[in-house]
Amino acid sequence: MATSEKLLPTRRQFLFASLLCALALLRVLAQDQPPKEEGAFREPDLVELRKLDKTIKLDIRYATSNNFTGRPVYTEARAFLQRPAAEALVRVSRALRGKGYGLAVFDGYRPWSVTKLFWDLTPADKKQFVADPSKGSRHNRGCAVDLTLYDLKTGREVSMPGEFDEMTERSHISFAGGTPEQRRLRDTLRAAMEAEGFAVYEPEWWHYDYKDWKQYPILNINFSEIGKRRGKAGK
Ligand SMILES: [Zn+2]
Repeated sequence: MATSEKLLPTRRQFLFASLLCALALLRVLAQDQPPKEEGAFREPDLVELRKLDKTIKLDIRYATSNNFTGRPVYTEARAFLQRPAAEALVRVSRALRGKGYGLAVFDGYRPWSVTKLFWDLTPADKKQFVADPSKGSRHNRGCAVDLTLYDLKTGREVSMPGEFDEMTERSHISFAGGTPEQRRLRDTLRAAMEAEGFAVYEPEWWHYDYKDWKQYPILNINFSEIGKRRGKAGK
């Protein structure tokens, strides 16, 4: 009893300090806006990947603590892409099925506020692994996808030369280490993605940009708003 009584004010102080930090963070986020962009863009049409292809598995790390920030940054484990990119991904999925693999998606469309948060949390020497919020990310345009392969027989993700979001040389698409089988799998994914108009981001074997990314604006809407905003986006 004595111990818990002694601990009580400390815990209360800690909670109060945490609340102040959270409020400060919210204020910072509220003040920051995506960059203003000039030019004509296509009407955004984000579609949920699982609605198009049930064999696409979701492993949305940012909805869990199992990501480089150590905490969930999404409240919902869902993945969206602009329709042409999503349809191209379905074709990739179909092509890989014949080889015994499925696609496991780590992330697709990402609201701009999350890109800003990643940037603020990443030390200067690792910033090549995160997008500069003043330019926005291709994920913010709904035209980038982070993904890997899974084995259709076991349902398990395959072993690649490095881990998702690992900020080391093992992430590079031409990293020559790892096992021959790991490199073969990485290159199998790359060939299938490139055949459908996706280009790999060389420092990250898991990140692919869809060819039409320049035609879509940076978006900052939450997953839960996506259905509701349909038809109103772009205004
Ligand atoms: Zn990515």
